[in-house]
Amino acid sequence: MDQVYLSITDRCNLRCRWCFWEDYASEHNDAFDLGAVTRAIGSCLNGQPSVTVVFYGGEPTLRMDRVRDVMARLPEAHPRIHWRFAVQTNGTRLSDVVPLADDLWYLSVSFNEYTLPEMDWPALEALATQLPIVARLVYAGGDFTRYVRAAMPHASHVYWQLVSAPTLPFAPEAYREALRETLGLAAESGRRFIPFDYAWACTRGPQPYPASTDFPCGIGKHLTYVDTDGNEFPCDELAFPEARDRLADALGRLETLCEGCDLLPYCRRRCPAIYVKHGPDAFAAYCGLTRMLFEEVSAAGYAGRVPDEVSLQCEVLP
Ligand code: SF4
Ligand code: SF4
Repeated sequence: MDQVYLSITDRCNLRCRWCFWEDYASEHNDAFDLGAVTRAIGSCLNGQPSVTVVFYGGEPTLRMDRVRDVMARLPEAHPRIHWRFAVQTNGTRLSDVVPLADDLWYLSVSFNEYTLPEMDWPALEALATQLPIVARLVYAGGDFTRYVRAAMPHASHVYWQLVSAPTLPFAPEAYREALRETLGLAAESGRRFIPFDYAWACTRGPQPYPASTDFPCGIGKHLTYVDTDGNEFPCDELAFPEARDRLADALGRLETLCEGCDLLPYCRRRCPAIYVKHGPDAFAAYCGLTRMLFEEVSAAGYAGRVPDEVSLQCEVLP
């Protein structure tokens, strides 16, 4: 396990429409058990030299005291590991992150219609001089490039993914249009874009991955999600009790479904959480969008972009 997504609190100060968290955290629990989460992370270690912990939520900046505690506790408990830390935030309370900037690897900030009016722009400016800022955008239709444009002056990297939904809330051709516009903006700006869509290979050069049964996100092997009570789940989208069994079943089905696909060495069955949560029809729709993504990034010559420190954190090859 190389990457831990750790929930610091279930509470959030915004209610973004597409946040999956609303499905699970109806009570917005603010409990946190430092001992339990430290033990849970410790139990996942299996000799790897470095581990990245991404502070997650809810909104982790509501409880930066806990972030500090974890950043102190893990290196004390496991001094041989090179610990790297990152914060995934909605950007509204970035002043509280500034004192920790030297000890963070990168900051991931959500840009959307809810976060933009509340964004702590001065603190974002200050942080952008100190560490990589990854702008995190979720495509759900609508005026997507508005958020891309808002992010670009501040972010060193822009990564964007598709909303997770049982039925696509947009027409595929609208997605293609957004892809073209976004890739055009990337080319103009010189910024590094990570056209995410679970297709990491887009940022990794023209070579396919070595034959691998791993999923691009590392689920089931390199990745774990730990909640505020120290419970472990396959990923943050699969933080419910039966997730592990359903994931095991989905992995078997995807093995068959993706067999023989020409994009398999790049896409590697994309996001199994879509299959687990929304079923095979939804997965097929997302698969179609993945093909579209590959067409567009290839047409834009994007596949040749060099890997960088942030896309490396996205990458979890064995
Ligand atoms: S493009 Fe579709 S069929 Fe091919 S590997 Fe990805 S999800 Fe599977
Ligand atoms: S299964 Fe999907 S949602 Fe979960 S970590 Fe992988 S890509 Fe992300």
